[in-house]
Amino acid sequence: MRVRQATLVAIVSCAVMGIAACTVVPPAPDASARTPAPAPASAAAATVSTSEPAPAAFPQGAFTLSGEMTQGGWLRGTAPVGTTALTLNGEPVPLAPDGQFLAAFDRDSGPVATLMAERSDGSRITKPLAISPRDWRIERINAARRSGGPSETFMKRRMPELEAINASRAKVTDAQGWRQDFIWPVKARISGLFGSQRIYRGEPGSYHSGIDIAPGAGAAYVAPADGVVVLAVDDFSLEGKLLIIDHGMGLNSAFLHSQQLFVKEGDHVKQGQRIGLVGSSGRATGPHLHWSLKWHEARLDPLLFTGPMAD
Ligand SMILES: [Zn+2]
Repeated sequence: MRVRQATLVAIVSCAVMGIAACTVVPPAPDASARTPAPAPASAAAATVSTSEPAPAAFPQGAFTLSGEMTQGGWLRGTAPVGTTALTLNGEPVPLAPDGQFLAAFDRDSGPVATLMAERSDGSRITKPLAISPRDWRIERINAARRSGGPSETFMKRRMPELEAINASRAKVTDAQGWRQDFIWPVKARISGLFGSQRIYRGEPGSYHSGIDIAPGAGAAYVAPADGVVVLAVDDFSLEGKLLIIDHGMGLNSAFLHSQQLFVKEGDHVKQGQRIGLVGSSGRATGPHLHWSLKWHEARLDPLLFTGPMAD
């Protein structure tokens, strides 16, 4: 129940904020792509590559880690030999049969995260990780936040939609996309950054839960990584044509506002495969692709998975 409530708030605000952010965030396409504030710098600085050289040097006791150790970022690695269970801040982290795993850090993650491996011999290996803060784009508005919640009629339609979204994200598939380096679904002007937020006379609004890309209506977009389609629907009230793809290990992508979808639930998609056309279905002020990434309950910055948008 707790999970459902949290997701409800997040999803509602996501779509609502998505609209706001699309108009709020100044275009500056290249600049924004290259420099979402100091993020890449700190992200780069925080990038770890503590690959323990040879198994001979550390026969059993070490994690091998690489990734973006910052808010909204991620970590991929290999657990110490003999690991039977892995946790991040006490929460279970799925472990592949080959010992590989993925973990990620929410937009509002604290400065320290702790990985812990439990091994078959009963020993535990703990690894504290420093998670660098981000400088999120904040816009202060000298106006009251719009009051009045959603109407009863709206919520009647909305609740089953949220349940479908939650159920799809909870599906476990054999997708292996989590092992890949992600690519951009489509390259164009970035019209909204992940994490940006409006503050209304001191009262924070919801933050933007994905990245907005605006190539124009009808532009094709592709799967950023391999996956399995866990939701493909036509007319959700906020998201319009909504596609959710599971990349495995708790990582999934959502694509909002499409004009057309080329895949259906249960389809396996390959990285680079055309999966839809950009549109403005649902609640959107103009055609754009809103792409959001989640790992379990953590909301992540797609930019940290793809890297800057180069030609
Ligand atoms: Zn958006």
